[in-house]
Amino acid sequence: MSFKSDIQIAVNALERFNKAVVEGEIKVINQEKPVDIIQSLKLDHFTAKGGLTGNALKEFLEQYFNYVTSLHHPKYLGHQCAPPYYSSALGTLINGFLNNVSSIYEMGPASASLEHYIINWMLEKVGWPIAPLEADLETYKSPHGAGILVNGGSIANLTALIIARTQIAPGVWKNGNPGNLGLLLPAQSHYSLAKAAGILGLGANSVHLLDVDSDGRLIPDKIVGRFKRIIDKGLLPMALVANACSTSVGIYDPLDEIAEFCTTNNLWFHVDGAHGASALISETHKGLLKGVEKADSLTWDAHKLLQTSSLCAALLVKNHVHLNDGFQIHHDASYIFHKKDQLGFDTIHNTIETTKSGLGEKLFFVMGALGESGMAQYVDKQYKITKEAYKYVSNCSEFECPVLPESNILCFRIAGQDELQIAIRNELISEGRFYITTVKFKERQYLRLVFMNQNTSLKTIKELISEIRRIGKFLRSAKS
Ligand SMILES: *Cc1c(COP(=O)(O)O)cnc(C)c1O
Repeated sequence: MSFKSDIQIAVNALERFNKAVVEGEIKVINQEKPVDIIQSLKLDHFTAKGGLTGNALKEFLEQYFNYVTSLHHPKYLGHQCAPPYYSSALGTLINGFLNNVSSIYEMGPASASLEHYIINWMLEKVGWPIAPLEADLETYKSPHGAGILVNGGSIANLTALIIARTQIAPGVWKNGNPGNLGLLLPAQSHYSLAKAAGILGLGANSVHLLDVDSDGRLIPDKIVGRFKRIIDKGLLPMALVANACSTSVGIYDPLDEIAEFCTTNNLWFHVDGAHGASALISETHKGLLKGVEKADSLTWDAHKLLQTSSLCAALLVKNHVHLNDGFQIHHDASYIFHKKDQLGFDTIHNTIETTKSGLGEKLFFVMGALGESGMAQYVDKQYKITKEAYKYVSNCSEFECPVLPESNILCFRIAGQDELQIAIRNELISEGRFYITTVKFKERQYLRLVFMNQNTSLKTIKELISEIRRIGKFLRSAKS
């Protein structure tokens, strides 16, 4: 057996499977116990004997597909992962085989160049001057944007905070954290930020949650007083973070006004656009991020709304100097850091990762196949269907939505207790009929839909609502 025939087997299996998924012929999710999955896939057998090729591979894949969660399924309305455009999988396959590393130019010139190109494409969408190629370096002296592709928005957020900390506390790499370091987050922020604060050695008490309105949107006017109280206590805020958009309900913070406050107070402004920065490619929706160009850094996940396989996230900065200065490790890794008269550029100094897989391939293969306008159409379509679904759901008796959606996230609940919402979700996914999530918003439990899928239509949502009604009725009667 060979590379080519095994790939053919895998492609045939994927294509057959995907046809059934797209047509909604199979369950969107099928969870079995890990012990049963490990057994049915005969992992012990293959580990002992090898031979996962040819017919054995074919049979293995047939089993494997029994236990996957199908992101391309019209009833997939779960987490914010893209149902990737197939070209992204090609990029992943090609780089997965070549195993070129993008953080060291000589370990993957094509990969590193793709990454550089993509970062510049993103910088342009934000409105920051792009990073020059070497050839332009001599003539290009003024500050410009820069960025790095990393394995996910969580690492991008952590990277942003590392850079912000170096700016406010330049001695940190030598002396550790000053004891009064603080961080300002919206009350509704992604949990990766609290995690990043912890990793950076900030206790939970150093994280200050800012006031939000009834939609969970930051209130710029309230930041002033809060900030003053923090400063008066002798604390040293290292950054203020805003959402574009929030993970829970998909609401964009007023970046323009917040940016003004941060500029005036010389405070690092990080925009967590992991989910919603992709609106920047849409003429219709880019206004949601008005003012983003005044921020200092931005997280932007491609594996959410740019139809890219996980993971591919960008951390972008307005001023390249901040990224270059962010990590100040004087480590004796002479095999990497030796001064070399070389082509290209190494980005290894600017990332948490050392060996970093080529991530640009995942995104570029989508960009190359669909073009910018094709990608923008997808964003527009997903944001539009979400509004249509909102209109439908909020008009259904017994149902209520906490906010008018601004992105492709829709939350709602059916009349009843919090427990009922969770029980309904559990029932839906255990039947494998729909994959949806729940979220706690303003102390109440909601059902949450993320419209990632182009095959999800209003008809799908009508079916979902009637399913929820049926389950709700059943659960209520079972209780009484
Ligand atoms: C998804 C998300 C993240 C985390 O990104 P990962 O790629 O899952 O690590 C961070 N912030 C926001 C606002 C998100 O929606």
